Amino acid sequence: MVDAGLLKEVLDIYTMNADYTKGLRQAIGVREFEPFLRCYIMEHQKPCSESHGQTLNDQILKQNIQHIVDSPDDNEWKALLTEAIQQVKLNTRRLVRRQRRRLNRLQMLYGWNIHYVDATKSIISGADDIWAVEVVKPSVRIIKSFLTGESSTEIGSNASEETKMIQKDLWTQHVCEACGNKVLRGTHEWEQHRQGRGHRKRISRLKKSGSLCL
Ligand SMILES: [Zn+2]
Repeated sequence: MVDAGLLKEVLDIYTMNADYTKGLRQAIGVREFEPFLRCYIMEHQKPCSESHGQTLNDQILKQNIQHIVDSPDDNEWKALLTEAIQQVKLNTRRLVRRQRRRLNRLQMLYGWNIHYVDATKSIISGADDIWAVEVVKPSVRIIKSFLTGESSTEIGSNASEETKMIQKDLWTQHVCEACGNKVLRGTHEWEQHRQGRGHRKRISRLKKSGSLCL
């Protein structure tokens, strides 16, 4: 990803002390580079520069950073950069696990007919034609059949009674007062929440302080 220009893209949207909870900056591979970029830009800032904040010429900055990426030496910049790359990998793995759990839930609990498109071959080869055959073509077919009603990601008539019950239950809202009126949809989400560490901690704190009347 770094070789493919990830850092250059990050630099284009980089603003010091930006809000990483909004917009593009939430993406994995952006905020992880913040410590490196902040230190690097501050250290290489020219004192009498007229531009505000990012004083290094973007082009030079990009070249210098590419130099650090390519360099075999271990220095503090390389260490910061390596740390950022490790964080990107870690967060990507976390995201994949979370997404997989969500997809499984949609399939198992709500009976969604989920289609999978495998991009592995295309990513490994880097060839556009493989992307077209392995990813674009099946995606277009799936969307077309969805639009024409041949297949549906909604609950079909063959869905089990249990699935239909769960589907209906999705509209049952639970409000957890202990957690600042957090709203949970359906029994499953509510049970998950009740078993969660944060919720249990809050409940036991409230019990101890005597402010919870059960
Ligand atoms: Zn709660």
